[in-house]
Amino acid sequence: RDFRTMRFLLSAPKLSALPPADRCEIAFAGRSNAGKSSALNALCEQGNLARTSKTPGRTQAINFFDNDRLRFADLPGYGFARVPPAIKAEWGALIEGYLAERETLAGIVLIMDARRPLLDFDRQLIEWGSAYGLAFHLMLTKADKLSRNEQHNVLRRTRAAVEGATAQLFSSTKRIGIEEARAAISALVPD
Ligand code: GDP
Repeated sequence: RDFRTMRFLLSAPKLSALPPADRCEIAFAGRSNAGKSSALNALCEQGNLARTSKTPGRTQAINFFDNDRLRFADLPGYGFARVPPAIKAEWGALIEGYLAERETLAGIVLIMDARRPLLDFDRQLIEWGSAYGLAFHLMLTKADKLSRNEQHNVLRRTRAAVEGATAQLFSSTKRIGIEEARAAISALVPD
């Protein structure tokens, strides 16, 4: 539950470069620009653990962070129209391969902009993950951009749309939902 000890481990551009599966892993996924890096930095109380950037889809690699008990896998952001089909196919193969073969993977945290949840690739990822029996926690980020009423509605709709997943509102900038996220992510980790 204390993620402050998380440190960068390595960046894996292909499946053969994954670190040994020697501790429990939680994967973080989301569209480019959804706010995934900001969320990781907020959860770990570190200004620059995951790199935030406006350059879309610059890395097609899985970045790993860990401490002595737990590992986070930061999956490459997806969903940018300008990415060539060959790169999209590579992305898909890397992610699906990782989800399929990673026996230490305990769950997926899916980061979505609260104003645009559950777009195509988000749904694809939920489909893949569910097929492998993985648990999901959905984080609706940038909640600060919505009114109270809109926040309430998007949370209700998202929960109704994805059966069996937990979901919450989140904001890195306004620090909304940080403790709730830590608790939900910890709940994905087996004792
Ligand atoms: P990533 O591509 O998913 O890793 O997204 P980033 O974390 O790099 O964030 C993308 C952009 O959204 C940046 O300009 C951030 O400053 C902004 N951003 C991230 N989280 C929030 C948030 O909770 N609220 C607001 N208003 N902006 C955010």
